[in-house]
Amino acid sequence: MAEYAKPLPEITAESRPFWEGCKRHQFLVQRCRACGARQHYPRGICAACWSDDIEWLPSSGRGTVYSFTVTYRTQARGFRDELPYVLAYVELEEGVQVLTNIVGGDPEKLVIGMPVRVVFEDVNADVSIPRFTPVG
Ligand SMILES: [Zn+2]
Repeated sequence: MAEYAKPLPEITAESRPFWEGCKRHQFLVQRCRACGARQHYPRGICAACWSDDIEWLPSSGRGTVYSFTVTYRTQARGFRDELPYVLAYVELEEGVQVLTNIVGGDPEKLVIGMPVRVVFEDVNADVSIPRFTPVG
């Protein structure tokens, strides 16, 4: 495995189940048992009703591009080697939005509403980073 030069996620007690799901190449979302709301990123309480009765569910890993921007210039270590790269919000079928990268396609051909699916990059023995790629 090549050295991963980008910042690694800070794994907290609240986010650990999410990152463990990523290691299994499964994108988990939280669902509130009290009100049914789903959420991402991981939190200790429900953002809709403040209940702490939260469960983890596997998502389909499928969604659509909600919004995006293409970065053509940066000097940031780890990022400059991948120019141009896409920063995007993806809306999963489960209704939550994910701040992510779109990989594996031509950034010039990306459009809002395009279907995408999750892919995982195993960056070291403990961390796999979810990203999304165009479908079809
Ligand atoms: Zn709730």
